Amino acid sequence: MIHFDNSYARLPDGFFARVQPTPVSAPRLLALNAPLAERLGLDVDWLAGSDGVAMLAGNALPEGAEPIAQAYAGHQFGGFVPQLGDGRAVLLGEVVAPDGHRFDLQLKGSGQTPFSRRGDGRAWLGPVLREYVVSEFMAAMDVPTTRALAAVETGERVQREQAYPGAVLTRVASSHIRVGTFQYFAVRGNVEALQALTDHVIARHYPDADGPLGLLQGVIARQAATIAQWMALGFIHGVMNTDNMAVSGETIDYGPCAFMDGYHPQTVFSSIDQHGRYAWAEQPQIAVWNLAQLATCLIPLMGEREAAIEAATKAVHTFPDLYQAEWRRRFGSKLGIEATEADQGLIERLLTLMATERADFTRVFTGLADGSARDEFTDREAFDAWHADWRERAPEPDAAMMARANPRRIPRNHRIEQAIEAAVSGDLAPFQRLFEAVTHPREDCEHWDDLARAPKPDEVVPRTFCGT
Ligand code: AMP
Ligand code: MG
Ligand code: MG
Repeated sequence: MIHFDNSYARLPDGFFARVQPTPVSAPRLLALNAPLAERLGLDVDWLAGSDGVAMLAGNALPEGAEPIAQAYAGHQFGGFVPQLGDGRAVLLGEVVAPDGHRFDLQLKGSGQTPFSRRGDGRAWLGPVLREYVVSEFMAAMDVPTTRALAAVETGERVQREQAYPGAVLTRVASSHIRVGTFQYFAVRGNVEALQALTDHVIARHYPDADGPLGLLQGVIARQAATIAQWMALGFIHGVMNTDNMAVSGETIDYGPCAFMDGYHPQTVFSSIDQHGRYAWAEQPQIAVWNLAQLATCLIPLMGEREAAIEAATKAVHTFPDLYQAEWRRRFGSKLGIEATEADQGLIERLLTLMATERADFTRVFTGLADGSARDEFTDREAFDAWHADWRERAPEPDAAMMARANPRRIPRNHRIEQAIEAAVSGDLAPFQRLFEAVTHPREDCEHWDDLARAPKPDEVVPRTFCGT
């Protein structure tokens, strides 16, 4: 029994299409996130039982669900697409958790919708497990993110480069409203709908915001903070299209994402990102670009046009300082210091050394705590000189702060690929083990040491695919 309270489905027609998930032939539960279910106030035993699995597969609708596919537009790699929308996802409804927070329950891979265009509306096991493990790692590291409640196998095959087992992910988000949702109405000149969307988002995510400008400022601040956290984990989102930027500030769409092993600021994983538009170091600039699109959408709601443009522009221009302050705080924590502007150079010098050697991003920082960081460099002299400066600045770096900021284990791309490969051939154990290890990322646990190691050169998996 789930108590739905579907606020988005109360919005006017045109915000979504009512659509049923397409049933699947033989649903089987692959993973259920019990702690998240409890956090949402859902009954774990019910979810794991046949009625629950039927819901998680899209085979049965629980009472109170009002399934919809949401409409949105978006800039994809800089090119505007006026209509995207949930082409393979269905929002079942919203639940209000015991603590009063509202969450979307969305099925991803649940079949075609009016927004599917040419797609089959399905997902295969690979991207479902990738999103499951990476989004839950992000949550464990306190990064604002959508969550993964469950993954089910469908018993059907999905045709990609080859036929793969189909799967459905149940995604939980504080909402699925994107910059692209605003663009959808803005490009149609539908000011009334823009106003309704703005009111909805303010009530839902920014109750203290004073109108559209306040909303814009709120989104900018949250995105600046979220992206600084990505940077501090070596996370590369890979597809920062405006339809993949949530106005809640949560990280969304884990399609081609990956974490760096060896550090280099221009690292790209996504096979379709040929020009490095969404490389690690580009992410803050891309966020500004996306937020400028949101600002453009909101201007018609902001009164006199010239003044509105000026205010919106000013808001977007606050991003660099907000971001820089968060970046400094996050990277400072990684070094066990409360960093000020004067520490910027110390942080950047370490990153430069790391880039020269492609030192392992994760291991360098955990190594600073246990004394093994030096082993990650071949130019020991350069490292020692930096280390001496760090210890001069911080004779006693805050160990607890460092332990919180620096994960011992991340979901490394080669490990994700291994886990997917095993799962495709029917063995879920590597996935389950990886999941446990990276959702307890700060625990010092010897039997997970192999997962903390960097890939050997022949193990590196340098590419990811949207793979849908
Ligand atoms: P994504 O952001 O990865 O969900 O995909 C970008 C756009 O393509 C969205 O509008 C999706 O709904 C759509 N899309 C991706 N894969 C499929 C699919 N297999 N079937 C239908 N639509 C899809
Ligand atoms: Mg997307
Ligand atoms: Mg995607």
